[in-house]
Amino acid sequence: MSEMQPPSASPAPRGHSSRPELSIVVPVHNEAENLPLLLERLKQVLDGAVTSWELVCIDDGSRDGTLAVLRLLAAQDRRVSAVSFSRNFGKEIAIAAGLDHASGDAVVIMDADLQHPPETILLFLEKWREGYLNVYGQRSDRDGETRLKRNFAKAFYRLFARFGETELPEGAGDFRLLDRKVVDALRALPERARFSKGLYAWVGFRSTGISFDVAEREHGVSKFRYRKLFSFAFDGLSSFSTVPLKIATWAGVVIAVMAAMTALFFVLRTLFFGTDLPGFPSLIVSIMFFSGIQLVSLGMIGEYVGRIFAEVKRTSSTPFWIASLRSQ
Ligand code: UDP
Ligand code: MG
Repeated sequence: MSEMQPPSASPAPRGHSSRPELSIVVPVHNEAENLPLLLERLKQVLDGAVTSWELVCIDDGSRDGTLAVLRLLAAQDRRVSAVSFSRNFGKEIAIAAGLDHASGDAVVIMDADLQHPPETILLFLEKWREGYLNVYGQRSDRDGETRLKRNFAKAFYRLFARFGETELPEGAGDFRLLDRKVVDALRALPERARFSKGLYAWVGFRSTGISFDVAEREHGVSKFRYRKLFSFAFDGLSSFSTVPLKIATWAGVVIAVMAAMTALFFVLRTLFFGTDLPGFPSLIVSIMFFSGIQLVSLGMIGEYVGRIFAEVKRTSSTPFWIASLRSQ
């Protein structure tokens, strides 16, 4: 039996002489105060739990002393490495870069602010050793958030469940463990506007959830403002649903049918009562009818755009393998 990598995945990029068992990938934006604490907690939890581990920090254009702190930590501890972006590119892109630089057999993605309790990693590892390749943390409550944020999240999950083409486990975020096979599958996806929550679920593999309590942020404030969350939600829906493209078609059909009914109404009225304003009925009916035709044509173009979209994302033809049972 030979195990196969996904077709277009490339090998881990860094020349590690030996791969660590576990990589911790952390997107970091202005978290200078939290990083030393995070490393301390990780040491306590991971030493003894795994044979070897590394911490990969992606400094997403921080403007405080984050880079200096990372330099210091990397000099003190060889297990710490970091990549620093030229500016703020956003958490999603930082995570993608982190996956590119992590070389472990398993990768844990977590926040730098200690809201994701390091102790939960032990439960992730347990599930991983049982054979789960995609272990996601599920937040057990959203108490720490404002009502508005909570309701917004709920509405988003409902919309996504209705219209999205992938099933999203509720409350699952970026805090998770991914086996090397899943990481390679994710890295093989060429998408630019990444909605990783959806991608984690979309690639598949044997998955399970572990619930955890979201801790208080250790230092600093959350970097996600409402505007950012909205554009994030829109990214998510538009990359996993073609329903919006179909709206034009349906609106067009409805308007065309209404035009036909209006025409019938005017014909009957003229037959029975004569006309009061010559030219008006034909004008209204033709405007409505042609608006309908235009919308239907837009919808038709939309269908093709949807197909191009799937091709560009290469979602129509990229199976990922966990094993291939072929005799050589
Ligand atoms: N983060 C990032 N780039 C950004 C915003 C945030 O890398 O543009 C990181 C941040 O340093 C933290 C994680 O993403 O490690 C989650 O951010 P935050 O705690 O602000 O978000 P929240 O917990 O409110 O969702
Ligand atoms: Mg946070």
